[in-house]
Amino acid sequence: MINLDTTFPKRTAYTSPEREKTVLYQEIHYQWEWDLQSTPEDLWPLVADTNRFDRDSGTPALQILNKDSSSNANLKVRFSKYGFPFEYEQDAFEWTYPRRFGVTRKYTKGVMSALRIQADLEPRAGGGTHLTYQVWATPANILGVLGIPFQIGLIFRRTFGASFLKYDRMVNTGQTTLSTFGKPRLAPGGRARLLTYQNNLLNSGSDPALVTRLIETLEQADDLVASRLRPYELADYWQADRKAVLDLFLRATRAGLLNFRWDILCPLCRTPKSTTAELSTLKPEVHCESCHIDFTANFERSVELTFRPNEAIRVAPALEFCIGGPQNTPHVVYQKLLNAGETTTFPITLEPGRYRLRAMDLSGGQFLYVEPHGVAALDLQPGPDGWPNDEPRLALSPTLTVTNPLDHPHLYLLERMAWSDQSVLAAEVIILQQFRDLFSREALRPGEQISVGSLAVVFTDLRDSTRLYRQIGDAPAFGRVMEHFDLLKQAVAEQNGSIVKTIGDAVMAVFRTPTEAMRAMLSAQIALDNTFKGLLSLKTGIHFGPAIAVTLNERLDYFGTTVNFASRLEKFSEGKDIILSETVYNDPEIQEFLKANGDLFMSEPVTAQLKGFDEKIQLWRVRRG
Ligand SMILES: [Zn+2]
Repeated sequence: MINLDTTFPKRTAYTSPEREKTVLYQEIHYQWEWDLQSTPEDLWPLVADTNRFDRDSGTPALQILNKDSSSNANLKVRFSKYGFPFEYEQDAFEWTYPRRFGVTRKYTKGVMSALRIQADLEPRAGGGTHLTYQVWATPANILGVLGIPFQIGLIFRRTFGASFLKYDRMVNTGQTTLSTFGKPRLAPGGRARLLTYQNNLLNSGSDPALVTRLIETLEQADDLVASRLRPYELADYWQADRKAVLDLFLRATRAGLLNFRWDILCPLCRTPKSTTAELSTLKPEVHCESCHIDFTANFERSVELTFRPNEAIRVAPALEFCIGGPQNTPHVVYQKLLNAGETTTFPITLEPGRYRLRAMDLSGGQFLYVEPHGVAALDLQPGPDGWPNDEPRLALSPTLTVTNPLDHPHLYLLERMAWSDQSVLAAEVIILQQFRDLFSREALRPGEQISVGSLAVVFTDLRDSTRLYRQIGDAPAFGRVMEHFDLLKQAVAEQNGSIVKTIGDAVMAVFRTPTEAMRAMLSAQIALDNTFKGLLSLKTGIHFGPAIAVTLNERLDYFGTTVNFASRLEKFSEGKDIILSETVYNDPEIQEFLKANGDLFMSEPVTAQLKGFDEKIQLWRVRRG
């Protein structure tokens, strides 16, 4: 390990805003270097997670002073150290993945007037990384002149080095941020509750191996992990089935181990901007202070279900130590403030896929497609009418030249377009039967409506139930009808759908995909045949399209043209068949399903006149052969 410590004093003029007089203090520069075993790509997620790094290196937690401000001002932050209050305003972080990041802060309170840091990760010839960390600090007063060499030159130099070496070790031993154990604090009586709830979970039939992992996580996980638990992320890390882990988290919430909440993600920076414990208090209109935009939340992309330990078990405060660092927005691979007219040229390493270069406060962006045979260099800038509409092909390690032609400074960002698929999105969780059963009171505020994206909507009805009541009498017939609801509910739940409501003998159910709806209806029909031996049969119709979630009769419900249309299809069913809308029939997955099971099904077109629809409509009847 090299541990160079060089200082280059330089004179900087500083105007104190309070006293309106110019004082001169020497800017102090530190440069430290380390040789690490891991590659820059592997180190980046830890080293550029400045929130974690600052916490690990002994920076106190921050208080953000203007988080809810809708102004374009930079973030203002307060913290205290050695009993002194510090306040700073921070420019946007600048970075190029996985090689460099830095930030500048102007202090308005405390012993410094300015602080700038820059980290460079250079690949070493024999493998590994040469990491250079530089700090430029300008004292604001004599306390700063005395304090900076102590706090930065001695203490931070040591703790920063310890953090980098720890991250290097973590990468080398295959650990991730999810495997870091902090110094967790269990609540008074927390351990006893944990044991009781653990037994309740095991008795309710949850997978013992997953229960053990969850308990371990609650007992030991780092606060940064425990304060925002994401079931799919943990499932991937545990190499477990995602649905099973989500199922466990929902049960554990019901059992009192966890609390859940709905995080509203900004569509641009994808960070949580607002959080609510219940759907009934969710306000879909949200502002993002980092992106300077107002947006409306929707369930298919921007509302994520996350969990944290119940406070009666574990204390896991969601503290912030650094804001706006590169790992807050890991899909952004490059970010830099360009002054009016400024041009910058930089090399970058990209993964194949779609990217977008955009500028803050400017709509749209330049789309780019990265692939091995793309061009090696490109000049990019917005025109007078905005960004061009083309999508040039770009090589994996290109050199980009970006110009800001505007007469104001703008932050330019290059971002990967693929969304993290580790979010449990509201649209998918609210249609789980299990979610509806466990949290039947979770519903939107009356009058509120929110887009859920496209769903498969199913309506069913019983054929011959009137005859059944006549034949076997009211009480036995009612028992049979109830039994049919149970069979149907089970078939729906097995395909990740849920029953939204029942109207007499009729049922409305929703699914994420047409195929899940189709599979559920087939297995329900087969179960009914086996149980009722022809006494009752199930008429059913399926449509797929966009819908809106609302609250009706204190329960989550769906409405829109898709639902109206779907509700009219079951009338054309004869029982033991399924009526598909043209959209469902033409769905590629449904076509594949029908082809693969060609010997089991017959499909025939049905031309129908639907109530409330002017033109005749083409439907498809799928019959079990
Ligand atoms: Zn944002």
